[in-house]
Amino acid sequence: MDLGIAGRRAAVAAASKGLGYATAKALAAEGVQVAMCGRNSETIAAAAAEIGHGAVPIVADLSSPMGASTFVHDAHVALGGVDILIANAGGPPPGNFASTTVDQYLAAFELNCRSTIAMCYEAVPAMRAQRWGRVVAITSIAVRQPIASLILSNTARAGVTGFLKTLAREIAKDGVTVNSLQPGLHATDRIKALHGGDAESLAAAVAAGTIGAADDFGAIAAFVCSDSARFLTGAAIPVDGGTYEGLL
Ligand code: NAP
Repeated sequence: MDLGIAGRRAAVAAASKGLGYATAKALAAEGVQVAMCGRNSETIAAAAAEIGHGAVPIVADLSSPMGASTFVHDAHVALGGVDILIANAGGPPPGNFASTTVDQYLAAFELNCRSTIAMCYEAVPAMRAQRWGRVVAITSIAVRQPIASLILSNTARAGVTGFLKTLAREIAKDGVTVNSLQPGLHATDRIKALHGGDAESLAAAVAAGTIGAADDFGAIAAFVCSDSARFLTGAAIPVDGGTYEGLL
């Protein structure tokens, strides 16, 4: 399918592996110019080289708003602009109320809420001015159905989802869409780390009977960035193989 975004420029955050990497790869395959970040120069350079298509590696730490906005600024400089923002970051550590300290919420809020807000502040004004833009944030199915062992993720991602919905409606008339994707279980290092290294054994918990591949996620993220998806905004979309049981 031609997504109609060849030649567009994308900043893909946290993309040395996993869902960010798969999204960068899917966009690059559509002819999008991609700038992608991670914290380690060698790792992100290797990931960009693997994707090819002139993907630009950028070293950035998204655990502070300054690191996040600097990434988007550097992507803008490298590509001459940013038409598509994939707001992503690593996940916070696991824990429940009893095992998590009050201070830990601040770090999670910085990484999984304020980093996305900062990236939007950096990228969105130029998108509005040119009357075309796509913001896709990677959150979690935990926004719909909080996960008992991930209280930090549940809390930070609910906050960022409220921000994104508000932003989407405020700028909907400007040709800029803002959506979030809520992954369920995809076979990435994050899921292996949370589930004892055996992602495949989780398949029974997925309605589709199989855990998702990162590339399944990347294909959906790229579609949400497509030109044809211009009427899709303000949505928070589960990407979980049908596992979430609720109607809304
Ligand atoms: P992953 O495989 O662990 O990859 C995480 C990526 O984030 C890596 O590229 C890592 O690169 C980068 N990263 C981590 N911390 C960073 C930081 N402070 N600054 C810049 N880059 C950073 O994770 P994933 O499975 O792709 O998950 C992506 C997001 O979706 C996470 O927030 C995760 O919690 C969420 N999620 C995933 C699933 C799933 O099914 N996989 C389900 C629900 C939610 P470096 O280490 O090289 O910096």
